[in-house]
Amino acid sequence: MREVSREVFKEEVLAWARRIGVTDRIEEICLRYMKRKWASCSSRGRLTFDIALLSQPASFRAEVIVHELIHLKLGNGSHGRLFRALVKAYLQNSTGMKSQEPEGLAGNRYDGELKSSGKGVG
Ligand SMILES: [Zn+2]
Repeated sequence: MREVSREVFKEEVLAWARRIGVTDRIEEICLRYMKRKWASCSSRGRLTFDIALLSQPASFRAEVIVHELIHLKLGNGSHGRLFRALVKAYLQNSTGMKSQEPEGLAGNRYDGELKSSGKGVG
């Protein structure tokens, strides 16, 4: 599988941030090796992503990115009903990137892929 560069990945994060409306909440985007998680974010807006995401499929990268950005949007670390609904809504609305998939699949795949990946997200 073709890897994307750090620059391309950060552009993807910023593109999602514009869509979700959290651009001004991002303090820093870091990419480094992470053992237990794909990504995490601090309350101050520092986003950290596992460098291994660069070689993951675009759809999986999007799922991890949207997860962290929704944390920034909501301003807390919970994964409650609102959190899950927003993640699903944004991923489902990205039909340009997922036109081959029937509506509603993105959210289910999200949980499935993350669980089977053996790592979580923060
Ligand atoms: Zn989370």
